[in-house]
Amino acid sequence: EDNSSQPADMSKDSLLGGLLAAGFGEKSCLSRYQSVLYRKISPYKPSSYLLSRLRKYEDLHKHCGPHTKSYRKTIKLLKSGHSVGPTDCNYVVWISYSGLGNRILTLASAFLYALLTNRVLLVDRGKDMADLFCEPFPEKSWLLPLDFPLLPKFNSIDKESPHCFGKMLKNNIINSSTEQPPPFVYIYLSHDYGDHDKLFFCDQEQTLLGKVPWLIMKTNNYFAPSLFLMPSFEQELSKLFPEKETTFHHLGRYLFHPSNQVWGLITRFYKAYLAESNERIGIQIRTFDSGTAPFQYVIDQIMACTLKKKLLPEVNRQEAFVTPAENQKSIAVLMTSLNSGYSDAVRNMYWEQSAMSGEVVSVYQPSHEEVQQSEKQGHNRKAWAEMYLLSTTEALITSAWSTFGYVAQGLGGVTPWILYKPQNRTAPDPPCGRAMSMEPCFHAPPFYDCKAKTGVDTGALVPHVRHCEDMSWGLKLV
Ligand code: GDP
Repeated sequence: EDNSSQPADMSKDSLLGGLLAAGFGEKSCLSRYQSVLYRKISPYKPSSYLLSRLRKYEDLHKHCGPHTKSYRKTIKLLKSGHSVGPTDCNYVVWISYSGLGNRILTLASAFLYALLTNRVLLVDRGKDMADLFCEPFPEKSWLLPLDFPLLPKFNSIDKESPHCFGKMLKNNIINSSTEQPPPFVYIYLSHDYGDHDKLFFCDQEQTLLGKVPWLIMKTNNYFAPSLFLMPSFEQELSKLFPEKETTFHHLGRYLFHPSNQVWGLITRFYKAYLAESNERIGIQIRTFDSGTAPFQYVIDQIMACTLKKKLLPEVNRQEAFVTPAENQKSIAVLMTSLNSGYSDAVRNMYWEQSAMSGEVVSVYQPSHEEVQQSEKQGHNRKAWAEMYLLSTTEALITSAWSTFGYVAQGLGGVTPWILYKPQNRTAPDPPCGRAMSMEPCFHAPPFYDCKAKTGVDTGALVPHVRHCEDMSWGLKLV
């Protein structure tokens, strides 16, 4: 490994304003240094406090990471089954679970939680985590060692597992006066979690969790917004993220670097189809209705949104031939979907008719995988490449409810237009609307006031945590 080679173009700030640590070999992870050549420079500057906390985290990770002395000590404790007071290193283990968009969001949430609680994040590699991403932390891996004692149990963990934190609270096996909780608990924060699992978002229960060296977390939700509602994290979070809507943006750009193999998919596609255009627009189509795609009402919705909001040029339905303007503008439309029918429709429209001012509109779709196959490696490589490619566009149209789109908008630093969810198989009116922020939506937040011990509308407590545009019960940072 040649550590001395210089990144592609240092003058373009390849370390993203100090967000990324120096000292990685360039060749092992080209995307770390080359992202600046494809993605526009972020208009949002990370706070100097965030940068200092990241460097501090990296030191902690070095000290506690896999196979270190401290790691081995804490593993022994885990095997022994009983806690013996505070430990040198504490961990949050993230379980690989659900679609790739969901996974990227939960991993960022788990890392934020690790930052807030001085824990070390370790990543279950599942089928393909190591194949998709580079290591984000210097020197020590973020991958959970394969001989981790609880690894064989990860698949079967659900809210009924006896070691689930919520279950243990419910059965009063532990409570806030427990002096010595067990050395590990499962933290279950998946969409179907129960009221006791949701106590994770209460300060009192966090104090108890502070005494547990191993937290094994299973979630398919971006839970960061609810951390912002906890008094114990409030001050720290406002220092880390003075601009709250940049939370996923900065964490995502810090953590998620495509592996060289995925980087090949990204850069080859970008150079072949996107690089030369004056403008790039991303359209991400994800449908949740049953039946055979493409759906005509979704095609109608795409047309209505892009034309009404002037995201794409009108077509000239009167004249058979439009003489292009002097400086003919070229617009590349990057469309992603499991189905190819939507991009076919847009491409045909600009072939059969001319754009109003003679703009050249080209439409490209990297893949059409037809159905979700989250367990297949090549499939997820393409999914990751497409999320990343969407994040290089200047304007984004995303689909309601889709974490795939959330990842693209957050990494890109682009506030998207959201295609609202169709009801009863008809295009909604209005077809789309501008999002309040580029943050992902937390789809299954708790509605609980920890102090008053009653239900509360958590989307109406503070101005920076609101209900989402695409899901009325969800929460997002703005
Ligand atoms: P969500 O279900 O839309 O929230 O997004 P996820 O990424 O969590 O899960 C959807 C999965 O379906 C993706 O990870 C892909 O495996 C697949 N998928 C959905 N849309 C696309 C697409 O446009 N392109 C590709 N390549 N895969 C997709």
